[in-house]
Amino acid sequence: DPRVDLIRSRIRDVADFPKPGILFRDITPLLSDGVAFRTAIDLLAEQARPLAPEVIVGIESRGFLFGAPLATALGIGFVPVRKPGKLPHATTREEYDLEYGTDAVEMHSDALSHGTRVLVVDDVIATGGTARATCKLVKRLGGEIVGAAFLIELTFLDGGAKLAPIPTIALVRY
Ligand code: IMP
Repeated sequence: DPRVDLIRSRIRDVADFPKPGILFRDITPLLSDGVAFRTAIDLLAEQARPLAPEVIVGIESRGFLFGAPLATALGIGFVPVRKPGKLPHATTREEYDLEYGTDAVEMHSDALSHGTRVLVVDDVIATGGTARATCKLVKRLGGEIVGAAFLIELTFLDGGAKLAPIPTIALVRY
């Protein structure tokens, strides 16, 4: 698909960021190209629509950049998942393990009504830890996960397996 080739061409590889040995996939060239950005949202919308989501849950912060325009393209709402301490109202937290230590994600406790069909969105799935914690949080708050969508999947880290059996959408896979 030439549209996927366009998106792939606008992802920049940055060696040794944020640490030596990491090859970072940088989506800022995609964001600054209006045609490529629009194409990415169109493709995500095409693949997400059959899942019939009722709300997008976007993961801070690059998940907001794709989740919010995808929500408007689908004509549905957007709910943010944030790092601890950022949301103003009553929150629910899910902690998850990192290579060294732990991290956590939070949502407003009243953000979802029971049985709401949720599509989780982020820019990249790497180990899948962040997306899995987000899915657990959504379920705890009564949401039904219908899928998870990403611009990029780093397949060698096998993050998709952590989300199984949740259907995973990724426009570009490395
Ligand atoms: P995971 O929890 O290991 O799947 O890491 C996913 C999180 O790390 C996402 O929120 C991504 O934004 C970020 N991330 C990991 N690798 C990259 C990358 O190469 N480019 C951009 N973001 C990345």
